[in-house]
Amino acid sequence: MRTYDVVRGAERLGRIHLDLHPRDGKYNHAACFGLAPGITDRSLPESVLLCNFSRGLLEHDEVVTFFHEFGHLVHDILGGHQTWARWTGVATEWDFVEAPSQLLEEWAWDAEALAAFAVNDEGEPIPADLVARMRTADAFGRALEVTRQLGHATTSYRLHVDRPADLAEAVDGYYRAASPVTPLDGSHSYAGFGHLTGYGACYYTYQWSLVIARDLLSAFGDDLFDVDTATRYRREILEPGGTRDARDLVQSFLGRESTFDAYRAWLAGA
Ligand SMILES: [Zn+2]
Repeated sequence: MRTYDVVRGAERLGRIHLDLHPRDGKYNHAACFGLAPGITDRSLPESVLLCNFSRGLLEHDEVVTFFHEFGHLVHDILGGHQTWARWTGVATEWDFVEAPSQLLEEWAWDAEALAAFAVNDEGEPIPADLVARMRTADAFGRALEVTRQLGHATTSYRLHVDRPADLAEAVDGYYRAASPVTPLDGSHSYAGFGHLTGYGACYYTYQWSLVIARDLLSAFGDDLFDVDTATRYRREILEPGGTRDARDLVQSFLGRESTFDAYRAWLAGA
């Protein structure tokens, strides 16, 4: 476990704890948890990342997971300066809460960002053309993966409105309706679907937030390191926490209503 203070100049903004590697008896997924809510003039925000990354070199999907969870962490700290605990940090709408973390994942697919830390044994940074090929490979079968996600979302919603007599048959039916991939017989996938407790009926937010995340990303154009856009993103999206409706935050940042256009382009492999 490592603990860091988050500072801007001489100002302390909060504290983060990184518990990144597995040990016996530990939570075995990856998530960000608030430790202390940030309340103006009373307490600084503190949050924890619990992950289970391999020691030594990370796989790229672990890097993506790290950036995703770090997105929640940054949101919780920068948005953690509010009058009321109810609206501090990531205490925003569920329809929106995954958008900042999904947006930050994109930095793990950017050659310039990766070159800053992803090096081989000789200390050479990852080549940009390799990153380009990784992006192409990632886009392969993307729509199929989205249909699987829609199967999860349908299952999460239907099990909250229906009480099917035969769970296995009903759940297999939801997946069959969403995706061309036939569910394996007798897999009882709902029994291992952890988000059913916690996210409840709201698993759909992963796709809904992604629509917003793709739209937010479009404001950065080709330069993920554009300081003006990043500063505006921090002020308009992250710092308000849950004090304003997410739709209003997105509109102030983009200067327009959010649309499906960027998500549609991403689905098409852009
Ligand atoms: Zn998340």
